[in-house]
Amino acid sequence: MADLKLNDVKDLTRIERIGAHSHIRGLGLDDALDARKVSQGMVGQTKARKAAGVILQMIREGKIAGRGVLLAGQPGTGKTAIAMGMAKALGEETPFAMMAGSEIFSLEMSKTEALTQAFRKAIGVRIKEETEVIEGEVVEIQIDRPATAGAAAKTGKLTLKTTDMETIYDLGTKMIESLNKEKVQSGDVIAIDKATGKITKLGRSFARSRDYDAMGPTTKFVQCPDGELQKRKEVVHVVSLHEIDVINSRTQGFLALFAGDTGEIRSEVREQIDSKVAEWREEGKAEIVPGVLFIDEVHMLDIECFSFLNRALENEMSPILVVATNRGITRIRGTNYKSPHGIPIDLLDRLLIISTEPYSEAEIRAILDIRCEEEDVEMSDDARELLTKIGHETSLRYAIHLITAASLACQKRKGTEVEIEDISRVYTLFLDVKRSTQFLIEYQEQFMF
Ligand code: ATP
Repeated sequence: MADLKLNDVKDLTRIERIGAHSHIRGLGLDDALDARKVSQGMVGQTKARKAAGVILQMIREGKIAGRGVLLAGQPGTGKTAIAMGMAKALGEETPFAMMAGSEIFSLEMSKTEALTQAFRKAIGVRIKEETEVIEGEVVEIQIDRPATAGAAAKTGKLTLKTTDMETIYDLGTKMIESLNKEKVQSGDVIAIDKATGKITKLGRSFARSRDYDAMGPTTKFVQCPDGELQKRKEVVHVVSLHEIDVINSRTQGFLALFAGDTGEIRSEVREQIDSKVAEWREEGKAEIVPGVLFIDEVHMLDIECFSFLNRALENEMSPILVVATNRGITRIRGTNYKSPHGIPIDLLDRLLIISTEPYSEAEIRAILDIRCEEEDVEMSDDARELLTKIGHETSLRYAIHLITAASLACQKRKGTEVEIEDISRVYTLFLDVKRSTQFLIEYQEQFMF
């Protein structure tokens, strides 16, 4: 495992696939964990948000091991939004993986493999690495010492034929010392201008001051460790265990991550990675960042998947499992038993249950306003009112979809603001569930059975 590839990992940019929730920036709670009416992109649902906040508190205090959260409520009542808000509130570095229960049933991989991948997407590894911070060519070093009360200004100049930074810094330090009669010590910061080769000794707190920023991109800084000049800086990045798995899986490789088609990963690869990560943790090179795994439509999982979840929650590296369903008492897939939310009682017992409620018209309006802003869509008041009514009578999600469509209709007629006519137009173009069902009933003879 000596060739465990990490360089590939750090270049990865996480692809944000959850556009519908891009306006959610947190749970919007105050210090007492009470939900502000509209905050961080979140509207209403105050009880559920507060409950989610209490769970976050438990997570931060390490008190939720072996448990999970169930968000129960009707479609479009913000279950996914709340799960996203929890992940955002935990911090940018916290991995958030999301899947729908029905995704488990694929021909490409077994159910347990799909779940294992989902879990590993939600476990982050914070890797600390040392990286070279200085590069470039410097052939001339100039050191200026400003005039002081007792001494005239002095300038020293040294032309080097080398681009070896170590030599340059070494000689640069010696020059600073001889000109200024002061030692360059551990913790001092030395600035080198890449264009002119000018080296200056700066105070220790300089790197934190405003002048630091003013020095411009051509200036590089080096901090002196004990007696020596430092050329390396520690950088930290967080990647998920799944990303490490894929990159090190011989059959898959790096590009599979972008295609999203990673296939099955052999268990030997995972075992090797787990032991390597354990080694890094021991050496202080890596830390585990448990993230949030959100499984929507959890009632679509079957009894085998549920027992997998039960076991996975026991693992010390387990992410926080948040599941959601809009079902009441229903059959557990793979059995003939019914149970609340279609979840076996032993797993249900491990879940803290948060329920979400339908929105009022005012709340729907506030969410639509936020989405218009997020999508940069100008919309007249009348149009917003109509869209709110549509959202109330059909579904919030349908109304949100109409924003983008109406904005395109507006662009087509070269308008600057979405008006009632644009909303009406797209309302007749795209059916909501109710009208689509009505349509099916009316024309059922013409469909195939
Ligand atoms: P389903 O049961 O169908 O999966 P859901 O309960 O997960 O639905 P979401 O997908 O979270 O519903 O909500 C639908 C849309 O409304 C999303 O774009 C979501 O971001 C937005 N939304 C829902 N609730 C809120 C809220 N309280 N504040 C802000 N945006 C919200």
